[in-house]
Amino acid sequence: MSRRIIVIGGGAAGLSAAASAAESGASVTVLERLPRVGKKILLTGNGRCNLGNTHLNAENYHGTFPHGMQIIQQFDSGRFFRGMGLYTRTDPEGRMYPASGTAASVLDALRFRAEQLGVQTLCGKQVTGLKHTGAKWQVFCGETAFSADAVIAAAGGNAAPNCGTDGNLLPVFKRLGLTVIPPKPALCPIPTDPAAVRPLKGLRVRAEASASVGGKRLRTERGEVQFTDTALSGICIFNLSRIAAMHGERTEIVLNLLPDYSEGECAEILRELLAQRGDLPAGDLLSGLLPKRIGEVWIKAALGTANAAAGELLHAEAAQQRLLSLLRGRRFPVTGLASFAQAQVTAGGIAGQCLTKTLEAKGLPGLYFCGELVDFDGDCGGYNLTWCWASGKLSGRNAAESIYHVRK
Ligand SMILES: Cc1cc2nc3c(=O)[nH]c(=O)nc-3n(C[C@H](O)[C@H](O)[C@H](O)COP(=O)(O)OP(=O)(O)OC[C@H]3O[C@@H](n4cnc5c(N)ncnc54)[C@H](O)[C@@H]3O)c2cc1C
Repeated sequence: MSRRIIVIGGGAAGLSAAASAAESGASVTVLERLPRVGKKILLTGNGRCNLGNTHLNAENYHGTFPHGMQIIQQFDSGRFFRGMGLYTRTDPEGRMYPASGTAASVLDALRFRAEQLGVQTLCGKQVTGLKHTGAKWQVFCGETAFSADAVIAAAGGNAAPNCGTDGNLLPVFKRLGLTVIPPKPALCPIPTDPAAVRPLKGLRVRAEASASVGGKRLRTERGEVQFTDTALSGICIFNLSRIAAMHGERTEIVLNLLPDYSEGECAEILRELLAQRGDLPAGDLLSGLLPKRIGEVWIKAALGTANAAAGELLHAEAAQQRLLSLLRGRRFPVTGLASFAQAQVTAGGIAGQCLTKTLEAKGLPGLYFCGELVDFDGDCGGYNLTWCWASGKLSGRNAAESIYHVRK
């Protein structure tokens, strides 16, 4: 007789898990609280879905689940999707996208596969509780109870709560005895002193950005930094946001606007610019090197004003040094956390120590976890979806095998 697996959540990990469990012969039901599955998938990669990456390294992943990298290294996003008739293309940085250029194709591929395998999808069903009775699991949606031989929890994290993900099941898992690492927003803007960024609102600049805690630089990224009226943003800032979330206001973001030049070269450039433009207003001094408004704001921050000729303001060696050190390492204090609504992923969730390498909860046979719900998250660049497909596939297969081979 076919045994039943219930998958909680019809997102990236849940749809992957459902197909994998059905391929292994189980009868699978997905319970999804929203009116349709895969809402978040449609938003990924600005609607293009960065579904994988060809450079999957341990430094791109974070969290407490010790077997995450091993699971990822045994997985191939390109092959996974090609097996469903979805072709991919890879950009020069190794980021993989659907060949169609649209996230809707990715969701379609997952939905078609699940339908072909006979997966039952029940939308508008919010799971509210779980109970382990003998070898069976009871899954409650309010008053309605579903019985299952195994359950795969794929309810996502807390990021983007408009996609149905708000950590609503974490108290249920805690009651079952599992440890939850408090969820924090990650891959998000980093709030800082509004007075420092407001004059730069809307501007973008290529820079090297470091997250520094107690004066120690924990991570450095290069890329485009964007300024909003209250925060630093851009992909390289997103990749530093996990550190800011963990260390809070002890963190500073240090921006080097001239990362391609050594200290000596920067001093030489400033001398040359003063020789060429010393008679111009100070605000124009750096406009051949940086966006004009950025140069102007940095000069004001270093010298208190930009309202004089550049040569006059920067006549003294000490003034030149102040400007150089600010251009090469201006510090922005972290003043708080972004909201989950601004975050792409969650740092935290089910603690890695509670799970076996098969993604089953220790001491709770038949309960599996996958995707963002697990305390394992990646950088920007397709790393998080890779984890969702890979952990979904593995948990689905392991859940199905466990009910057929071990607990018959
Ligand atoms: C704007 C945005 C862009 C992103 N872009 C990328 C990208 O390009 N590449 C990348 O790798 N990552 C990207 N990410 C991250 C990635 O989308 C997520 O990490 C991934 O979708 C998480 O998948 P999941 O299946 O674990 O959870 P989700 O996709 O969040 O799905 C969880 C599902 O569970 C349902 N659910 C929750 N609670 C219950 C309940 N009690 N009962 C029933 N159902 C429930 C939810 O409604 C939801 O449908 C992006 C994220 C955002 C927000």
